[in-house]
Amino acid sequence: MHDSFSAELVRLLVISLVILFFGLLSGVWWLPILIGLGGYIIWHLRQMYHMEEWLHGISRNEQDLRGIWQYTASRMRKISNRGRQRKKRLSRLLHRFYDTLEAMPDAAVILKGDLRVQWFNVAAMELLGLDVDARRKERRIQNLVDHPAFVNWIEEGVYDTPLEMPAPADLSRQLQIRLVSFGNQQSLLLAHDVTELKRVEAVRRDFIADVSHELRTPLTVVVGYMEMLSEEKLPEDIHQALLSSRRQAERMQSIVADLLMLSRLEMNEDQVAQAETVDVPALLTGLVEDARRLSGEMAHALSLHADESLGLLGDESQLGSAFGNLIFNAIRHTPAGTPVDVFWSHDGEGARLVVADQGPGIAPEHLQRLTERFYRVDKSRSRERGGTGLGLSIVRHVLRRHDALIEISSTPGEGSRFVCLFPAQRVVTLSL
Ligand code: ADP
Repeated sequence: MHDSFSAELVRLLVISLVILFFGLLSGVWWLPILIGLGGYIIWHLRQMYHMEEWLHGISRNEQDLRGIWQYTASRMRKISNRGRQRKKRLSRLLHRFYDTLEAMPDAAVILKGDLRVQWFNVAAMELLGLDVDARRKERRIQNLVDHPAFVNWIEEGVYDTPLEMPAPADLSRQLQIRLVSFGNQQSLLLAHDVTELKRVEAVRRDFIADVSHELRTPLTVVVGYMEMLSEEKLPEDIHQALLSSRRQAERMQSIVADLLMLSRLEMNEDQVAQAETVDVPALLTGLVEDARRLSGEMAHALSLHADESLGLLGDESQLGSAFGNLIFNAIRHTPAGTPVDVFWSHDGEGARLVVADQGPGIAPEHLQRLTERFYRVDKSRSRERGGTGLGLSIVRHVLRRHDALIEISSTPGEGSRFVCLFPAQRVVTLSL
């Protein structure tokens, strides 16, 4: 029990004792009760009046209040002060949050659940072309950023992959846009200027393409002369040196060819492959023949199981390169005699290519990185077997252009399985 409440009880006790005393003294009971309790009630009514004034802020003085009323008022003041301080702290935090967003070089737009603009920073005005009106009228973001790619992206509502598009306010600048949800159905749209990054990437790509292109002709000449020379009668040691140099020069030729292919694929990364009808079973038959030649004396047990009526809409030379890389890998990275199966079949509405081998497999920690450029589990082994380290990277790019996906699974000691999944709109039925 609190002190002020005990004091109130004591006060009531004293009044009752006084009433009892005067009641005994006078022999008239009702009069002291009336005076005592009446006075007590009037006192409380007065305190209530002061309390009401205090609450309305007319008289700020808490001193007019007494007893439990004073205690209640002082508790209320403390609670209200604490609330005010908390509000101030929150508003300071909110200001700091907005100041941080304002200082960012990236455009930041806070959106409500229905994608109406709630707030944005200065960079959003510069990069996305938003104006003060947009905030005042709380307009929808897709009605403000006028670019078809942006409108599609927002309407599809899948924000896992960022969108790249030219800045609406300055078409020479390239933006990367992300959308993240936070709080109570709000989201933050961020637009980062990637113009410089794109320029550096283009310089790197052009450089690789130019170097590969420049190397191609001299290499062809070198390999040509070596071929000619190796047919001549030469001392055995020189003949061997020549053969080894020719192998290395041919390896360089394959690296240059793969680099050129990759830079061509990267050049217009988002461009979809052209839609000519590709006779996939015939393409695979040719590739399996090539793989048999590559295997040679190693005699891998290659078999092809293809649905003869199943074709694809796409670029034949790109698909040939991707499928070839998967099939030749199954020869290159497995020991002699290993069974290698190639399946080409329907997959629901779509189609799937499976290249499965029973080779040594790949440890799980490598699987994620296999399609990176020059990523090889065992560099020297791959080189020895004529690999360039670019094969799976080419596969990934070709599949992306054909709206397809690659799935790699492998169990060390049991083998690997590379699956390419093509969507229904790429599938055609071949006339037999
Ligand atoms: P490479 O030219 O070295 O074959 P890729 O990009 O085609 O380059 O493949 C990357 C790496 O993935 C290879 O170096 C090899 O370590 C591994 N790999 C690819 N296919 C297989 C396979 N069928 N079995 C085992 N390892 C494989």
